[in-house]
Amino acid sequence: MAGRNALLWISSAMLLVVLLLGCEREVSSVPPLERHKALRNMMGTSVKIVIGAPNEETAAAAMEKAFERIAEIENTVSSWRPGSEISRLNDAAGGDWVKISEETFEILEKALEYSRTSDGAFDVTVGPLIKLWKSAGLEGRLPEEAELRDAIAITGYDKLLLDGTGPAARLTVKGMSVDLGAIAKGYAVDQALATLRTCGITCALVDAGGDVGVMGGRPEGGRWALGIQHPIEEGKLLEQVIEMTDGAVATSGNYRRYVMIGGKRYSHITDPRTGRPTHAVPSVTIIAQDATTADGVATTVSVLGVEKGMMLVEKLPRVEALLVTIKNGELNLHRSAGFSHYEKAQVNEE
Ligand code: ADP
Ligand code: MG
Repeated sequence: MAGRNALLWISSAMLLVVLLLGCEREVSSVPPLERHKALRNMMGTSVKIVIGAPNEETAAAAMEKAFERIAEIENTVSSWRPGSEISRLNDAAGGDWVKISEETFEILEKALEYSRTSDGAFDVTVGPLIKLWKSAGLEGRLPEEAELRDAIAITGYDKLLLDGTGPAARLTVKGMSVDLGAIAKGYAVDQALATLRTCGITCALVDAGGDVGVMGGRPEGGRWALGIQHPIEEGKLLEQVIEMTDGAVATSGNYRRYVMIGGKRYSHITDPRTGRPTHAVPSVTIIAQDATTADGVATTVSVLGVEKGMMLVEKLPRVEALLVTIKNGELNLHRSAGFSHYEKAQVNEE
């Protein structure tokens, strides 16, 4: 790692990489914070926590609590876990209302908000389409038209009903299912940061494989710096580096999670209106005030494409974007109006 000793951590699965940049400490009277970090496999990815703490004991206790909080969210909202609230909701599709926690209600409500804002490009009821492409991929074939039609017919956020008084949720059509994959990691990152805050931590970074949230600045002082994975060359970063304190960055890309069918890649992000995987924007990086928003908007923009996606980003307060498209092997970068405020032109490797 000699030439890359600026990198704090690289996971093969992650898109955003934390870089150490030379920054001076800002407050000399405050006792120095030690940098502590921990990694854990959760939510189908490697979750990384970096915090500043006065000592090892405080750091370990705080990070443990943050990991526990993430595990709690995963157990509640994962559609792959039998018995989770989302699995119970999916099992009851076409039937009666299902009681859910305030937390699940809040996430589902947020998801419906994205669906309305994006006119259905973002849709947590994509479950049947995700399952169809996954199973077709395992069989090495493309889904048939009739299968796509059937899956689209039972997809639609208007068929997910919420009742805040219970709280409760209901899927109105048999066979439909909710999949919170596009938003749950961002939500978990925000909750992990909130947990660290209640433990007295004031500077932290939580990275759930491409969904990153930061609180305060780096333990050594100065802003956190986040690199963006090159969409074609594995292990390489784009020259553009994002610097920030208190905020979040999420990257969605069709090169990271996909199914291979007939030697071709098909993204894990699906356009609910066509039933087909998206391919217009290979890399979407979104900056927002919180990771839930960054995660949700990144997936939405992946579906909307450059033009409509950028129009949405410009409408949303304090949201910025860097989209990468590829033409004849060349990368084309598309920035939102305020993206450059966060951009550091060159990576300063130490
Ligand atoms: P990553 O998991 O790589 O961070 P995303 O945040 O973009 O990527 O989420 C992708 C996941 O979101 C998919 O695996 C699937 O579970 C779900 N999904 C796919 N297409 C959509 C869509 N149009 N709207 C909402 N969720 C989607
Ligand atoms: Mg997302």
